[in-house]
Amino acid sequence: MSQTPRTAAVIGGGPAGLMAAEVLVAGGAAVDVYEAMPSVGRKFLQAGVGGLNLTHSEPDTQFLARYGAARDWVRPWLDSFGAIALRSWAEGLGMETFVGTSGRVFPRQMKAAPLLRAWLRRLKDSHVHFHMRHRWRGWKDAHLMFDTPGGAKTAKPDVTVLALGGGSWPHLGSDGAWVPVLRGRGVNVSPLKPANCGFDVAWSEHLRGRFAGQPVKSVSAWLEDEAHRQGEFVITTHGLEGGLIYFLSAALRDSIDAEGSAILHLDLAPNRDLPKLLQDLRKPRGGQSLASHLRKQAGIEGVKAALLREVLGKDLPEEPAALAQTIKDLPLKLTAARPLVEAISSAGGVPADELDPRLMLRRLPGVFCAGEMLDWEAPTGGYLLTACIASGRIAGAGAAAWLGERP
Ligand SMILES: Cc1cc2nc3c(=O)[nH]c(=O)nc-3n(C[C@H](O)[C@H](O)[C@H](O)COP(=O)(O)OP(=O)(O)OC[C@H]3O[C@@H](n4cnc5c(N)ncnc54)[C@H](O)[C@@H]3O)c2cc1C
Repeated sequence: MSQTPRTAAVIGGGPAGLMAAEVLVAGGAAVDVYEAMPSVGRKFLQAGVGGLNLTHSEPDTQFLARYGAARDWVRPWLDSFGAIALRSWAEGLGMETFVGTSGRVFPRQMKAAPLLRAWLRRLKDSHVHFHMRHRWRGWKDAHLMFDTPGGAKTAKPDVTVLALGGGSWPHLGSDGAWVPVLRGRGVNVSPLKPANCGFDVAWSEHLRGRFAGQPVKSVSAWLEDEAHRQGEFVITTHGLEGGLIYFLSAALRDSIDAEGSAILHLDLAPNRDLPKLLQDLRKPRGGQSLASHLRKQAGIEGVKAALLREVLGKDLPEEPAALAQTIKDLPLKLTAARPLVEAISSAGGVPADELDPRLMLRRLPGVFCAGEMLDWEAPTGGYLLTACIASGRIAGAGAAAWLGERP
């Protein structure tokens, strides 16, 4: 005698939700995916615009350390579906991956669209049903409520997975509107904050006008006693942004939250130590201007020279020791993180203690959560997608197991 399959709703068609749907349907559930936008995976597609950095090839311990304070929470997700598993999963969809020079892993085709297309085809072939333009509003009694172009609709699945994303780039669908809904149900959600974001600096009119949009490379950057990290960033009209800044953004943001501002230290000549730089700057200048002496002897010109003037004043000191010292440790005062809507990702969300190890909300049995809406953060480098997809698997498997335990 065949049993009617148990029903599962997955709300949010980003990578976390799609992975939860994949696991649930494999476990025998009848799965409906509800998505607010006209199509799923919009942020995933955006992530593929500059090359989809799916994961990272570094050793597990280093990989796990990227999740900072949340590493112990994330560990079991990655133990069950880490970088290697993710790569072979992508390859199972016909998307060969490769390791770039920085250790980052990309699909050979670089874009997200072919992967998403193949994934959706497989999900549809497995009879996952998609409901676009269904914006979840919360619950009425035990029913999920959706706003749709055809009016309000409800659903009463046996189990629900929420994979609603964070609050960055809200025009792509994840707008954080779920936060008050869960709080209304007693779930203690941490405020969403910008992660992998730019920062405000009170630039002079000169620097902003002449150098906004210009890359600063190669430099190293650090906060107080932290390790130095080499990379590059971009000057913006508001301040600065880019890979190097994103990497430090959690610590910078937290420092601004606590102190009102943060000092970012820059080494504008990272490939030369202080004694060598000093030796070079002490070479006779002859009739040269200080600007051309700095360019020839220290490689400081253009935007780097402007940054030096921003800190030391328009009339730079002639004394080589003062110049060398500031080139090697240029302090920049950051006054605010850029708003969440501009950030690459979100920090904050549903914290670990609100969820059981299967990612079910302790206060709402039968409701699981996955992806960026959970309260962990990581730098760019493939760590975001890896943890979103891995947590989608945990939530999907947890939801399937929970269904199996119901009479
Ligand atoms: C520009 C950019 C580049 C990025 N590049 C990378 C990268 O290279 N590598 C990497 O690892 N990460 C990258 N990321 C981050 C990565 O894309 C996200 O972390 C990831 O997409 C989050 O997955 P998710 O499934 O948790 O949420 P999302 O992808 O945000 O999906 C959530 C889904 O839920 C839907 N939704 C929200 N609210 C509702 C509602 N009320 N009702 C119904 N549906 C709803 C949304 O429309 C959305 O489709 C990038 C992000 C950006 C913005």
